[in-house]
Amino acid sequence: MSLDDLIALSNKSMNPSKLHPVVLESTYALMETCYKEGIYIRITQGFRSMEEQATLYGKGRSNYIYNGKQYGNPKEKIVTNAQAGSSAHNFGYAVDFVLCSEDGKQVFWDVNSKWKRVIEIAKTLGFFSGIDFKTLYDPPHLEMLGGYTVSQIRNGAKPNLVSKVKNPIKVTPTTPPASIQSSSTTIKLGDKGSQVEKLQKDLNTLDYDTKGIDGVFGNGTNEAVRKFQQDNNLSVDGIVGSTTLEFIEKNLKLKEIVNMTNELKVSDATKNAIINLAKYGIMSQDYEITKDYELTLISMMNGLVKAIESGKLKTK
Ligand SMILES: [Zn+2]
Repeated sequence: MSLDDLIALSNKSMNPSKLHPVVLESTYALMETCYKEGIYIRITQGFRSMEEQATLYGKGRSNYIYNGKQYGNPKEKIVTNAQAGSSAHNFGYAVDFVLCSEDGKQVFWDVNSKWKRVIEIAKTLGFFSGIDFKTLYDPPHLEMLGGYTVSQIRNGAKPNLVSKVKNPIKVTPTTPPASIQSSSTTIKLGDKGSQVEKLQKDLNTLDYDTKGIDGVFGNGTNEAVRKFQQDNNLSVDGIVGSTTLEFIEKNLKLKEIVNMTNELKVSDATKNAIINLAKYGIMSQDYEITKDYELTLISMMNGLVKAIESGKLKTK
């Protein structure tokens, strides 16, 4: 099978038009370099929607509600620690690969020397490998976040990725990922559409009654926004800009954490400790609660280390 065919096969699974152009270009370059060394790889995942991520996160968990829908699927094994919106895949900044036969038909999941060579090449292209993740060993995963965290990107940060590819392969024309297209415009009284509907859903989840979820920013939504801004010490203007959105995200995450923490089979003191850490934003990134107590603890400790490293938490 030619390189072009392997790329065509990979394009079917990675949603190339929604990947960041630099991620896409680097992925093709990775495939090309590997191909020249006689290592054949296929891309099994690229851009992944929130719903697809929720389905994955639900695996191995009895209860996971995203956007009002139950995604828990305890019969399966845990495959990811990333909830919907917390994976680089959701924003077009990650791909997963697997070794394959020359004709692309068979795939091989052994993390052998060839696999490690792929990661080595990927790193020279600027990818970070999931083999180095602290919370869940994820050898197929490659991501490029330009120094940001996924939660920063979710809150609107736009990584300025610089391609290290010298001679890019020209394949399909690409458009920037959804996260780049969505401009940081404000939402206000009189606005209509899916953005308003999402805002209404989020506010209701946080117990701010918008008097209906209809995608129309009317008086009910305006009141709910004002109440939310007041409760969060924001300027009360009823206009939803990036700061209000950021606080909504934070509150949603916190609510999720509280819900999941309450399910853990640990003492109330431990639950309080987890929730308090979450309130200080220490655990906002990489913070995952799973039924696996040890994974939860690892997550907490990593969150603390990151908080210390970022200067949020002072040590003596
Ligand atoms: Zn991945």
